[in-house]
Amino acid sequence: MRLIKQEIKVQFKARGLKLTPQRCAIYEMLVASTDHPTAEDIYQTVKRAYPMISQNTVYYTLSALKGARLISEVNLGHEHARFDANMERHHHLVCLGCHKIEDLYDHALDQLKISARRANGYLLESHRVEFRGYCSRCRQRQSRSKQKVG
Ligand SMILES: [Zn+2]
Ligand SMILES: [Zn+2]
Repeated sequence: MRLIKQEIKVQFKARGLKLTPQRCAIYEMLVASTDHPTAEDIYQTVKRAYPMISQNTVYYTLSALKGARLISEVNLGHEHARFDANMERHHHLVCLGCHKIEDLYDHALDQLKISARRANGYLLESHRVEFRGYCSRCRQRQSRSKQKVG
């Protein structure tokens, strides 16, 4: 799902966002990644191509992209926000061990609805289900360390 520069230009223009090479690089990196990076991860990656970029520029750009609804913030209640440029309807598998976040597509989850009473006055726009647990790699690591003890 790698966007070419021209497409990014169109997306930005449609949302009234000024296109700078740094912004383009940040968005392109997010679109290309599926691992929901933190702002720090994004900064470290984009810095390789743009050594002069500041952390502030990265934070500012992320909030501009978020405001334009080109990306979303994946809030896990952890101290570091994670970002997602996948704006398709999807859900998440979250590893409590290594904090990996994977995309999950499930039509039945997409259809979840709650009554207006339960919505408690909220005008709902969307929902995302998060399944938390331990990924296969973390489970392997756990069973290995158990073997050592036992
Ligand atoms: Zn894990
Ligand atoms: Zn996602």
